[in-house]
Amino acid sequence: MVVMEALQKIRPAWITRISNHLAKGEGIRQTFQAQLNEFYDLLIQAVETGNPEWLNTILDQWAHSTTLTDPDDQEITVEPILEQMALLMYEVACENLDNLEALQLLGSVLPVFTYALGYSSQVEIHLQVSQLLDKQERSRISLERLDKSKSDFIAIAAHELKTPLTLIEGYSAMLRDRSKDNNGNSHNSILIKGIENGTQRLRQIVDDMIDVSMIDNQLLDLNYQPIWLNRLLEMIQHEFRETISERHLGFILRPFPGLQEMTFGDEERLYQALRNVISNAIKYTPDGGTISVDGRTLPGFVEIIVADTGIGIDPEDHARIFEKFGGLGESSRHSSGKTKFRGGGPGLGLPITKGILEAHGGAIWVESEYYDEVKCPGSKFHILLPLQKQPPDEKMAKLFRSSVETGELKDPYR
Ligand code: ADP
Repeated sequence: MVVMEALQKIRPAWITRISNHLAKGEGIRQTFQAQLNEFYDLLIQAVETGNPEWLNTILDQWAHSTTLTDPDDQEITVEPILEQMALLMYEVACENLDNLEALQLLGSVLPVFTYALGYSSQVEIHLQVSQLLDKQERSRISLERLDKSKSDFIAIAAHELKTPLTLIEGYSAMLRDRSKDNNGNSHNSILIKGIENGTQRLRQIVDDMIDVSMIDNQLLDLNYQPIWLNRLLEMIQHEFRETISERHLGFILRPFPGLQEMTFGDEERLYQALRNVISNAIKYTPDGGTISVDGRTLPGFVEIIVADTGIGIDPEDHARIFEKFGGLGESSRHSSGKTKFRGGGPGLGLPITKGILEAHGGAIWVESEYYDEVKCPGSKFHILLPLQKQPPDEKMAKLFRSSVETGELKDPYR
């Protein structure tokens, strides 16, 4: 067969040319030549049988060695080597064979090279994808580890801080009692008040740390009971009334559908969640701004929307603020008060809020165009809470069943 003979004829010339071309250094050249000989044998088999898959094994080997040696370097691939090989085969065939022989040889060999190019690029893509997936998995594991150490740190720190804090609280209460004279007037009351304010703030931080670690470890126990959103929101408005008036803020609670409806939930925890969002709206809105609470019912849910005219949040930070310690900006820029403008805390409020809402089967997300302390584009926090006519706990359901069925459950404060 003409093609087979032609292939044997140009073999030594092609191997020398390609190895001189691609392999630098005598040692490398020898190893490379051994590989080229193996390739050439398989090439002959492929041409003889008309099945280019004979090359698969060696192409697999090459793809693995190039991809694994330098996974980040996209330049090192088998394709340019195969292209060189085909090009040099053309050159060597033209130099060593007559025109007809060369034409016949190239006609049989080029489809094999075309197949080899397609096959090796497919293998390399698969390898690169699996390497990237590996890398992603490794990053996921190390992020998980990091998150676990964060959680462990919070749990340990909270536990360690709790005992001395309880001592300070106890002793300052005793100090207050002892500094009272016979008429009940307290000496040093400003100093004692200062200590108490400081400890109160510290207590809140420690409590937040404990809450976060309970949420992280799925230990948040919900105590379901009938709740009315209007009551919770009015209580929060009442709690912040002084700050609202001192800072000349507008606070509008709109009468939205679902506001007066009874639903089951953990009253204390939901109060905490809504309070966090509203206190943030107060903190991140300059004096004179407005905070409004609106909402609507959706099938099976009530959506509460807390909007403010504050500094706003960049869209790239919308997810981060719900992560532990996800507070934005430098802590040095925070003002010290809890509800003063930009009175930032440790960044645990929103993760707790999210944890509480998710434990209820709800969700929270933010909408805000951008961050600008001068233009104040404002933010809107959307809170989705399932409307539950029965508590999920069977025992509680029994307790409330008759009252729910007879429609007797009414807001006791109305
Ligand atoms: P912090 O204790 O820092 O207030 P949070 O978890 O409550 O922690 O909030 C995280 C961060 O989200 C805040 O530091 C702030 O940058 C941003 N943020 C939260 N609410 C608002 C809001 N209404 N307007 C602008 N930024 C907000």
